[in-house]
Amino acid sequence: MSGERVNWYRISNELHLKYQGKIEIMPKVPVLKLKDFAIWYTPGVAGPCKEIYDKGGDLSFKYTLRWNYAAVVSDGTRVLGLGNIGPEAGLPVMEGKALLFKYLGGVDAIPLVINARDPDKFIEVVKILEPSFGAINLEDIGSPKCFYILEKLNEILNIPVWHDDQQGTALVTLAGLLNALKIVGKSLDQVKIAFIGAGAANMSSIKYITLAGADPRKMVVVDSKGILHPNRPDVGELKVRNPWKYRLAMTTNAEGVTGGIPEALKGADVVIAASRPGPGIIKKEWIRLMNDNPIVFAEANPVPEIWPWEAKEAGARIVATGRSDFPNQINNSLGFPAVFRGVLTIRARKMTDSMFLAAAYAIAGYAEKKGIHEEYIVPTMDDPEMFIEEAIAVAEKAMEEGVARRKLSRSELEAEIRELIYRPKKYMDIALKNNLIRILPPYSEK
Ligand code: NAD
Repeated sequence: MSGERVNWYRISNELHLKYQGKIEIMPKVPVLKLKDFAIWYTPGVAGPCKEIYDKGGDLSFKYTLRWNYAAVVSDGTRVLGLGNIGPEAGLPVMEGKALLFKYLGGVDAIPLVINARDPDKFIEVVKILEPSFGAINLEDIGSPKCFYILEKLNEILNIPVWHDDQQGTALVTLAGLLNALKIVGKSLDQVKIAFIGAGAANMSSIKYITLAGADPRKMVVVDSKGILHPNRPDVGELKVRNPWKYRLAMTTNAEGVTGGIPEALKGADVVIAASRPGPGIIKKEWIRLMNDNPIVFAEANPVPEIWPWEAKEAGARIVATGRSDFPNQINNSLGFPAVFRGVLTIRARKMTDSMFLAAAYAIAGYAEKKGIHEEYIVPTMDDPEMFIEEAIAVAEKAMEEGVARRKLSRSELEAEIRELIYRPKKYMDIALKNNLIRILPPYSEK
């Protein structure tokens, strides 16, 4: 294990108390004299109000902040690995997400934790909020209700909706898998994939890896009760309680494999685990049962299902985890900031599957251009150019799919996206130089 000894909880507690909030709202129009408020507020502001009223609600994207405004919405029912800790306790996470949205994607995101644990009430609240926003990011909502909420909102909203615990993970997992397969020289439609865990993360990975060309019949999915198959004793119950998982039981595992993780890994080319913190969920000896050149994604946080060095000792050719202290970090932050940058820039009505795949190919392609190898299958988060390419890919696909409210040429897209992605970094420099953001201890301890 790496020599990480930092007490992140203590440092974070102290700094959260000192800064009391990680983002703030700032003006973006000149206010040089008080009379300027006659433009930005009354009486002048009635002009844009009337325009929007006369010509239709979509004009709010042109006249207001809406075009770049996203909500990070959570009911706090499955926050990080902490479980159902409620909306207030989830707020620091949603605020952190809003910070990442701004810093990496130039997206104005606000955290919205809501007291709506009933899924239909949650859906109603988001629908009611729609006129304020250009896109919705759902976060840390328990499974299986998160599947229902995403599907329903996707159906009824006229702005894109994204559930990062599902799609964000799936996006970066798919990008990493595409490159890992290039390295080992296997093709997606041929490989046998074992999925360990059938929750928010893996259910979505299965969906999109299938859409990208993998054969569901060659997939074996394991949850805490063992391998999914049509004759598992709980399938009747699943049909009612979790139809998404039920569908998997019916469509995967053509060979009818039964048992648990070792049986699923036998002869598999790839294992993608998003189950529960390890180590020891996947044992070394089970990796030895896999096909040649095994690919191991052990994504559980904070400790992967198997330590990377154990997987390697057992013969894994490529190992990815959710952690930044090992190579190949499968990190949602490579996905959502650019996806939102893309959809907001062209004011998309929907997030389609093809837009998702375009983002995955862009992430994979960017890493490939830089030179992929066993320890570099996805780019790292510190590369703004990657976010620009990914955002352009999403925006172009949205225009192609006919879900964009705006049409831009590639060069126009690139110019706008580049400016927006670098803008917060410029602000940060100015704020630091002018002591508007101060470096307070124990910031420097980390
Ligand atoms: P979830 O609670 O929705 O699903 C967990 C699934 O794992 C369930 O299907 C459960 O039955 C199964 N499971 C639990 N213990 C198991 C075991 N011993 N064997 C087989 N299956 C088991 O959770 P989620 O949101 O899907 O997240 C799962 C894990 O993945 C968490 O540890 C989370 O931190 C991690 N994750 C990592 C990333 C990343 O970017 N690296 C992203 C999302 C989630």
